[in-house]
Amino acid sequence: MIAQTRTDDEAATPAFGLRAGRAPSPAITALVVSGEAGGGEIAGLLREALPHQNVAVCATAADAVVRAELAGPHGRPVALFMFDLRGRMMRDVADELRTVSKACPQAELVVVAEARSQQPLAACLQVVRRPDKMSFLPAPMHRPDAIEALKAIVERYCALNNTAAARDQNTIAGLERELTELQARLEIAIHAARHDGLTGLLNRTGFIDELSARIARSRQPQTVLLIDLDRFKLVNDTLGHDAGDDLVRKISTAMAGVLPSGGVLARLGGDEFGIVVEGLSDRGLVEFCTMVLKVCHQSRRVAGHEVQVSASIGVAHQDTSSNEMALMRHADLALYAAKRAGRNRYRTFDTAIDKAAKHRSSIEAGLERALRADQFKMAYQPIVTAETGEILGFEALIRWNSPEHGAISPAEFVPIAEETGLILDLGDWITRQAFKDCRRWNGPYVSVNLSARQFLRHNVADRILQYAEDADVSPSRIQIELTETAIIDDVERADRNLRILRDAGVRVALDDFGTGYSSLVYLNRFAIDCIKIDKSFVDTVATDRQSAMIVASVSRLAASLGMGVVAEGVENEVQQKVLIAAGCGALQGYHFGRPMSAKDVLETLAKR
Ligand code: C2E
Ligand code: CA
Ligand code: CA
Repeated sequence: MIAQTRTDDEAATPAFGLRAGRAPSPAITALVVSGEAGGGEIAGLLREALPHQNVAVCATAADAVVRAELAGPHGRPVALFMFDLRGRMMRDVADELRTVSKACPQAELVVVAEARSQQPLAACLQVVRRPDKMSFLPAPMHRPDAIEALKAIVERYCALNNTAAARDQNTIAGLERELTELQARLEIAIHAARHDGLTGLLNRTGFIDELSARIARSRQPQTVLLIDLDRFKLVNDTLGHDAGDDLVRKISTAMAGVLPSGGVLARLGGDEFGIVVEGLSDRGLVEFCTMVLKVCHQSRRVAGHEVQVSASIGVAHQDTSSNEMALMRHADLALYAAKRAGRNRYRTFDTAIDKAAKHRSSIEAGLERALRADQFKMAYQPIVTAETGEILGFEALIRWNSPEHGAISPAEFVPIAEETGLILDLGDWITRQAFKDCRRWNGPYVSVNLSARQFLRHNVADRILQYAEDADVSPSRIQIELTETAIIDDVERADRNLRILRDAGVRVALDDFGTGYSSLVYLNRFAIDCIKIDKSFVDTVATDRQSAMIVASVSRLAASLGMGVVAEGVENEVQQKVLIAAGCGALQGYHFGRPMSAKDVLETLAKR
């Protein structure tokens, strides 16, 4: 019936005045409800917290209730039931909680649960409906804090139940006890609020508190590093969140290992870390940043795979920032600059970054207005057959003539629209406009660029097909251009959407091929019709044997996988010849035609 019990001497003297000034407690029983042999980590914890009390492990809640009934008459009532929620179904634990709280309404219930999730807390309270009897220990547990909390909880039980020993206490001792208990609870709450559950490092709140304390008290200028792991999401998505967590833990340990003395490391969010150091020389800082990049870039084994990520770092010095919030904001801007500059590098905040940030926010504000004020126009650039230059289709490219900034390149404002989310409305406008224009061409297809965020939108495929129907354009005259990121960000969703589009007859082109990370063989599992070889290869194809060879082998591989190849950015005849020799079937570039207005497209087509 009772699976395993480990009982200390029943008659042991009830005293645990471990902390000076703490009143002795009467004899009680504490029960761990756990299927794990010996009650696992939490039984050990409880024994350490209550060394002179009766601590037992019960396999089920029903066993625990029987045990509680037996314990009462022995003068050692059950003061506390402890549960471990980690790795268990909430439903099972809820049933157990309900059983014991009904049988022993006076007893305290302690649940160990992952600190990250608020959900178990709410769910437990819902079953027990006695918030005053429930306590949570956030895991991973800080052992000394957990022990203090357990002691305090048992003391509370004793005080509330007015047992013989408790009655003996005078008011001052009682107050003192209450105070100790409160203090212990407060300490746990403060610790949890300022620390990250996964790594035990300071969290964002703790980090900012620490930073502001240092700025206030130290005579040395502070330097903040914000570190963000590049493409970490890929690890989570492909190997699972446990693997991602494991990698975060390993990298944080490695970074802690290279921290200069007096430096503080924090985990600010998913894959973002913060470091504050003081008094480093310029050279010391360069060395430190390089070291951090290096430890982040090391290959590590997680979930049975060798995984290698890199990091981007933004640095800000106290001398360019007045307070902790300015310091954080500046480091953040520098971090984004590092990411935009190609990741796996650090950037230090300076006036150029500041200026760029201001320019960006003015563009951001202008974009909102532009969509309402109809300031966008579409331009179309021909895509032609490599050999004869015959027009196959047109790539739709957006143009913005801003009243404040003049003509701004989409390469500049599209990423901003992506970040603000405006790309969704803008993308809808682009798609509808491009289809409407294409309706008036006879024959050539229209190729529309879809940004990652647009492509990851719910129902994107249906939406595109609907717009095609609205414009009365056959899906066979539509091509969409996607970059690798749009696909890799959510592989399953991309796969689903690509199939819907492909089944309807829409063609799919992979844009900017050669600038990403993935191999063509990997990408081949998706419904892709053709790849667009990035301009950076085409630029050098006529002068550099290496790029000519890359283009040739990519074309060959693509052909063997049943994909077509378009080379972008062709500017002269020499490039055209080399690309034909390399096996590219279609070409695009100023050599054949610049992006032109919808009206010019009609004229060009009429002249054919
Ligand atoms: P992309 O998709 O790679 O588009 C090709 C870019 O190369 C276009 O720049 C085009 O004008 C330019 N280009 C074509 N041939 C040549 C050439 O021979 N020489 C040179 N130097 N450039 C050439 P554009 O229009 O400035 O667009 C830049 C990027 O902005 C695009 O790169 C694309 O990523 C984004 N973009 C443009 N329009 C849209 C749009 O409607 N939606 C989305 N989501 N992104 C767009
Ligand atoms: Ca494109
Ligand atoms: Ca491109």
